[in-house]
Amino acid sequence: MAENVLAIYPGTFDPITLGHEDIVRRAAQLFGRVIVAVAAGHHKKTLFSLEERMEMVCEACKPYPQVQVESFSGLMRDFVVARGGKAMLRGLRAVTDFDYEFQLAGMNRHLMPDVETVFLTPSDKYQFISSTFVREIASLGGEVDKFVSANVQQRLTAKLAMQKG
Ligand code: ADP
Repeated sequence: MAENVLAIYPGTFDPITLGHEDIVRRAAQLFGRVIVAVAAGHHKKTLFSLEERMEMVCEACKPYPQVQVESFSGLMRDFVVARGGKAMLRGLRAVTDFDYEFQLAGMNRHLMPDVETVFLTPSDKYQFISSTFVREIASLGGEVDKFVSANVQQRLTAKLAMQKG
């Protein structure tokens, strides 16, 4: 059944971390098709532009032919319904994500009753990784090689150097 299911994994991915990549890998094993949906992010000020975030996500998803990358703006529901998605994927880390994700899943059930939210947990070693901390550590000159791919690491270094002028 899951082989026929299109699953959509939305997020801001500012930038994509090894935790996100672990979720994509697990999703690719479970679902016939996966769309990683990168939010335009008008509600949040992002470090990377939408194009940059998309490029990094595309690079990370290259090994998985059944995974596509798209951007979306506006209501997630409209994107999922337009694509015919049947599952919305979210990653769950330890306990910190639970309240927010549980609430989001409940709201989304009202907005799109035919779509199930599916939670995947990453490998233990990625449980604590967040894009926010990655940006913060990198901006203070710390190493982030255990948290993001080499490609993302290079982009972070270049972006922060450019910002410093
Ligand atoms: P959002 O702005 O929607 O929270 P994020 O890019 O921060 O987008 O995260 C997208 C999804 O990936 C969320 O469900 C988030 O909980 C999950 N996620 C973030 N970091 C990790 C991680 N290290 N391991 C597993 N899931 C994660």
